[in-house]
Amino acid sequence: NEVLIQTPSKSYSVHIEAGIRHRIGSILKSASSYSRILIVADENAARYYEKDCVNALISHGFAVSVYTVPAGDQSKSMKQYEDVLTFALAEGLDRKSCIVALGGGMVGDLAGFVAASYMRGIGFVQVPTTLLAHDSSVGGKVAINLGKAKNMVGAFYQPDAVFYDTETLQTLPMDQWRSGFAEMLKHGIIGNVALLERLLKDCPTLEAVKQSSQFAELLATAIQVKADIVAADETEAGVRAHLNFGHTLAHSLESLSQFQLSHGDAVAIGMRFALKLSRRFTGVTEDESNWRQWFDQYGFPRMPQHFDPDALLALMKKDKKASYGTLHMVLLDALGVVSVRTMEDEAVLEELRSFQKEEQ
Ligand code: NAD
Ligand code: ZN
Repeated sequence: NEVLIQTPSKSYSVHIEAGIRHRIGSILKSASSYSRILIVADENAARYYEKDCVNALISHGFAVSVYTVPAGDQSKSMKQYEDVLTFALAEGLDRKSCIVALGGGMVGDLAGFVAASYMRGIGFVQVPTTLLAHDSSVGGKVAINLGKAKNMVGAFYQPDAVFYDTETLQTLPMDQWRSGFAEMLKHGIIGNVALLERLLKDCPTLEAVKQSSQFAELLATAIQVKADIVAADETEAGVRAHLNFGHTLAHSLESLSQFQLSHGDAVAIGMRFALKLSRRFTGVTEDESNWRQWFDQYGFPRMPQHFDPDALLALMKKDKKASYGTLHMVLLDALGVVSVRTMEDEAVLEELRSFQKEEQ
C-alpha cells in the first residue's frame, strides 16, 4: 500500500508494508543521495527496531549515526532539541544529510523540527512505529513544546518519505493502539464514511483491529483522508482545521488531566461532545448513544466527572486555534462532512454540563 501526499511544497509517498524497515536502505539509495543519516529514535522504538534500520542503511553504503531520546512527551523540549542539533553538528551532518525519525509522534515532531531548522533545513524521513503516527507522520507539522505549552515552537516541514512498517505495531502497548485508533475513527467520521463503517463492522474490538488481515489497507485509507485535506490546505488556512474535529475539548481535557489522559482517549471524548453540539446546532441526527456504545466497546474512557466545565471552557478559549478569545469548533454536518462554527460561550458551557451528566 502506498499513499501519495501532494502538497504545494513537496510530494512524497507513504509506504505501508509489513517489514519495510528492512528495505529503507535500498529505497533511499535509489531515490536520494544523502551524505549522512542521523536516526533520531524513541528509546522504546530503538530497543526493538534500531538495529534493523541501521543495518538496512549501512548495507547500502550510508554513513549512519543514532541519537536516542527518552520516551515521553517531555522529550519534545528545547533541551532535547538543542542536544540533537549539537549531536548532529558533532557527527558532521551537512546540508545534504538526512534525519530519520524512528518512533511515534513525539520523536517525529522533535526530529522533524531539527530537520527543518538544522542548516535551514535538511533531509527528513519518517519511520513511524505507533498507530497515532498515521496521523502525525503525514502532513508536515513538526514542533516542540515550550514548557507546558504544547507544540508552541515549530514549522511546516514535509518529509521526503514515510516508511510505515506495520510489523512494528506488534510491540505497541494496547493503550497506545487505542489512542491511535481514535484518530482512525476520526478520519472516517470527517471524510470517509465507508472507512468508518468497515472499522465498526470488521473491527469491533482493538484486538480485531490488530489482527485484521486488511489492516494495512485500512491504515492507508485513513491516511488518504488526511492526505486529501493536507493537499487542499497545507498550512491550515482553511479546511485543514477539519482535522481538529473533537480536538478543542480534547486539548483542554489533556491539559486539565496534566496529560494523564492520552491524546486519543481525550479525542474520543471530544468527538462525542462535538456530536452533541452538532445535534443542537447543525441538525445532524446521528445517535449519541450509538456513538457512546462504540467508544465504550473499544475501551475509551467516558468524560471525567471531576473536571469543572468552567475551567474546561476557559482552556478551550485559550486553544492555539481560538482567535481573539472566540471559540471556533468543528461540528458534524452529516457523517463524513464537517465545518467550522463560531460558538457562544454560554451554549458550550450548558452543553458541557449536560454532557458530563449523560456520560456518568
Ligand atoms: P509517542 O511518540 O510518545 O509514543 C507513545 C509510546 O509508545 C511511547 O512510550 C513510545 O516509547 C512507545 N512506542 C513507540 N513505538 C513503539 C513500538 N513500536 N513498540 C512499543 N512501544 C512503542 O506518542 P504518539 O501517540 O505516537 O504521538 C504523540 C505525539 O504526537 C504528541 O507529541 C503529539 O503532539 C504529536 N502529534 C503530532 C501531530 C502532527 O501532525 N505533527 C499530530 C498528532 C499528534
Ligand atoms: Zn489528534
